[in-house]
Amino acid sequence: MNPLIASDLDRTLIYSTAALGLRMPDADAPRLLCVEVYEHKPLSYMTETAAALLTGLARTATFVPTTTRTREQYRRIRLPGPPPRFAICANGGELLVDGESDTGWRRRVEAGLAAECATLEEVRTHLARTADPAWLLKERTAEDLFAYLVVDRALLPEEWVKELSAWAEPRGWTVSLQGRKLYAVPAPLTKSAAVAEIARRTGPCEVLAAGDSLLDADLLLAADRGWRPGHGELADAGWTAPHVTALTTRGVAAGEEILRAFGGTA
Ligand SMILES: [Mg+2]
Repeated sequence: MNPLIASDLDRTLIYSTAALGLRMPDADAPRLLCVEVYEHKPLSYMTETAAALLTGLARTATFVPTTTRTREQYRRIRLPGPPPRFAICANGGELLVDGESDTGWRRRVEAGLAAECATLEEVRTHLARTADPAWLLKERTAEDLFAYLVVDRALLPEEWVKELSAWAEPRGWTVSLQGRKLYAVPAPLTKSAAVAEIARRTGPCEVLAAGDSLLDADLLLAADRGWRPGHGELADAGWTAPHVTALTTRGVAAGEEILRAFGGTA
């Protein structure tokens, strides 16, 4: 039985310029493939080797891109290999089947959130009231499911993030800081729930997962085997689990190593 491979994208398989972490001499740097263009400029990359590994994997396994991105943000990415049958966007809130939203899944997600969490409006109001324009660059909502702020990381006080997490937790929301983005996401809105739904549809198989941020912890915990890169929120927190391999490799090279761990060969 071919495995189901559910992998986070940003800073796990694909990397912005700032996240590449090219520490080797310039002449030894890997050749990069641009997989996303935003506003006419290249934005995200993987190594050419990683692209070949992913192409091979996507032919033999059920590869499921599993992202917190909105559908619009996800559709900008041009992953190598055949188009995935399933994709998970909006941190599990949107399940794409052959590129189309599964409306039944979305309705189930909404019903679950309404029963368990404070509303998005309440969270937005709190963010607007407490965020400081000194470091707040943008305030956004995603798919009417969760909120995120684009922040100036150098000026963002750690204390504010802690206070926000403490406010959010009893209201059923989770806070995650990834690069310049601070996410506030309903706790039951998870990647793992959407992966479980896909596994139910495809039939029993081994589930492999990878991710770098706190929003990937449930995905890794629910998988049979998982990997996390040497950078990111999980690495910074020293997060680990018995069936999750904590790689030490950082930056775009970690993406390559994760694809090899999934069973990719190039
Ligand atoms: Mg990520």
